[in-house]
Amino acid sequence: MSNHSLTPIPMVDLKEELALVRNPILASLTEVLDSGEYILGTKAAQLEEDVARYIGVPYAVGVGNGTDALQLSLMAFDIGPGDEVITTPFTFFATGEAIAQVGATPVFVDIDEATYNLDPSRIEEVITDRTKAIIVVHLYGQMAEMKSIMEVAKKYQIKVIEDACQAIGSEYNGVRAGAIGDIGCFSFFPSKNLGAYGDAGLITTNQQSLYEKLMQLRNHGSEQKYYHTLLGMNSRLDEFQAAILLAKLPYLDIFLHQRKEVARRYTESFHQQLRPPSVPQNRGHTFHQYCIELDNRDELALELNKHKVASAIYYPIPLHLQVAFQYLKYKEGDFPIAEKTAKRILALPIYPMLSIQKQAYVISIVKEFLESNR
Ligand SMILES: *Cc1c(COP(=O)(O)O)cnc(C)c1O
Repeated sequence: MSNHSLTPIPMVDLKEELALVRNPILASLTEVLDSGEYILGTKAAQLEEDVARYIGVPYAVGVGNGTDALQLSLMAFDIGPGDEVITTPFTFFATGEAIAQVGATPVFVDIDEATYNLDPSRIEEVITDRTKAIIVVHLYGQMAEMKSIMEVAKKYQIKVIEDACQAIGSEYNGVRAGAIGDIGCFSFFPSKNLGAYGDAGLITTNQQSLYEKLMQLRNHGSEQKYYHTLLGMNSRLDEFQAAILLAKLPYLDIFLHQRKEVARRYTESFHQQLRPPSVPQNRGHTFHQYCIELDNRDELALELNKHKVASAIYYPIPLHLQVAFQYLKYKEGDFPIAEKTAKRILALPIYPMLSIQKQAYVISIVKEFLESNR
């Protein structure tokens, strides 16, 4: 079977889903063109309203991208030099970068071996009187252990920011990502579960005062044009991207369902040879990524590549070992679980339109590899 010559299988194929959404997107874009309102018009406002309703929060603020969402959230809490923010070392760089960009110090805590998310039992030991917030990341589309995290945060009166960039629509006890912490941050980078065709992001909150502050911060700290009460940023949600996202939002639940189906087929095929991604009972995993763990993952990646099947490593270097964070003085061995996972993890192609035939091809290569390497 693995000798079949098939078209290459990428990690994500955005063109396949375009066929489904092309017409509603073109109609939505045309409305923007004809409106003459190109910054913060009716599409951006409508998207904020619709996404807030989808997540189950009263407020949403559209911003430039997911990284800005994180940075603006920290700014909303006046977090800066001298402050510490706890987060996971096993995430995309932007999570730690946002903390450092506001002048605060990232403080890392190792992850849970099964879910790859921040291990709540390790948070308390790094809390100091400078700790102002925790940025909890819902990695690969699976929410972190929010109950314990919210409890620690409440005990020490620190803020919780959910980095839900990979987790739109994911659930924890029936509550969606971005609705539990003080603030939720989303990215609509094209390959995310809800993707724009450019950069875009959004912040959710339950608190009116935070909402009002974030609306100002994203627009140069002004409420009324040319009157600036805060130092903010230029990080508005682009009107054209909002139009695209509005056209795609009605498909989100279908796309998430299809991702779960792809994940289910992978797990069914591998569970005897590999530990499948662990999904605790109360968690609605949306499988932004489907990752497996194995000792010789580099060899499997090569084998897949030989058959024109993509794979990827999210992420090869934990944040505490990144060159840009050398100044924090962490060293190899500080977060053994994150380090071990970074050496063993491999993401397989997953996207809503991945056909059963293509997936079967990926599965056959992985299974053959696992069997010949036993
Ligand atoms: C994608 C991502 C971001 C950054 O989002 P951008 O829109 O690319 O700025 C931040 N955190 C995580 C976990 C992400 O996956």
